[in-house]
Amino acid sequence: MRFNPKARLDTSRVRDSGSSGGGGGGATRIPIPGGTKAGGGIGGILIIILFVVLTQCVGGNSTTLPDTGLDTSRMQGSDTGRYAQCQTGADANANVDCARVAVENSLTEYWETALPEQSDTQFQPIGGLQTFTGATGTGCGDATSQVGPFYCPVDGVIYLDTTFFEEVLQGQLNGPAGAFVEPYVLAHEYGHHIQNLMGTMSQVQTQQGPNSDAVRLELQADCYAGMWAKNASSTDTDDGVPLIEGLTDEDIQQAIAAAKSVGDDRIQKETTGRVNQEQWTHGSSAARVKWFQTGYTEGTLDACDTFSPARVE
Ligand SMILES: [Zn+2]
Repeated sequence: MRFNPKARLDTSRVRDSGSSGGGGGGATRIPIPGGTKAGGGIGGILIIILFVVLTQCVGGNSTTLPDTGLDTSRMQGSDTGRYAQCQTGADANANVDCARVAVENSLTEYWETALPEQSDTQFQPIGGLQTFTGATGTGCGDATSQVGPFYCPVDGVIYLDTTFFEEVLQGQLNGPAGAFVEPYVLAHEYGHHIQNLMGTMSQVQTQQGPNSDAVRLELQADCYAGMWAKNASSTDTDDGVPLIEGLTDEDIQQAIAAAKSVGDDRIQKETTGRVNQEQWTHGSSAARVKWFQTGYTEGTLDACDTFSPARVE
């Protein structure tokens, strides 16, 4: 993936709350359920916390949300200025932090056009993309680095501990490294934001199992990530220039490998050695790849309807 060096970046929605947990930050270590093995524990936590975050935010709080949409007043965390240097696509080519800004910009520009074109839903950008290290407060409660990247529907913010990729995805789950892994994850989380705007999140009733609503919601977010990937290189900035100058087959293969590595069956196998479909919350590796590819080849919201088919696995 290469960014147009002349494209201007917009850092207004991207911030970094820095590191907490050192001195008086009050980082909460979540107890490892049912084991002391770090490997198993972290993966287990990943699954459990993602589940908790989803059920808390989607099931619990969403009914009390104001009708006007996101409560962005609940955005938390100060800004360390980590992204202030990110001004152009050339910066994004040279620096992973700036690449994160560029990907956020591309996702926002893409959905700003695609959503009203393909639905009656009015577009609103995410409340923010917030990176942190250690722990952070969020509109959905406190999060630690072990939570994994997530979207909080209450404040509309994507939270990301940037050590996740190396420590959890590659370290614990034997997932891929590569420059397009993080864009896939960001595009997936942005997909949850689109679902939030469209009201899809509030339709989730069943939380676990291979064809549960929770799994359908996750697979749809993968499909939305594929929609963006297909159109990323034809998405322009406000100045009318393309921001991403083309994705390679290798980029797409990295996204597919990343989707595969976060399948529930794969995570269960890596962390507990056993696969139990009834506990699935995100979908199998095969289904995650399939729905990313559906979004990538079809490129429409309609093709990403994961709620209508009898089975999604
Ligand atoms: Zn998700």
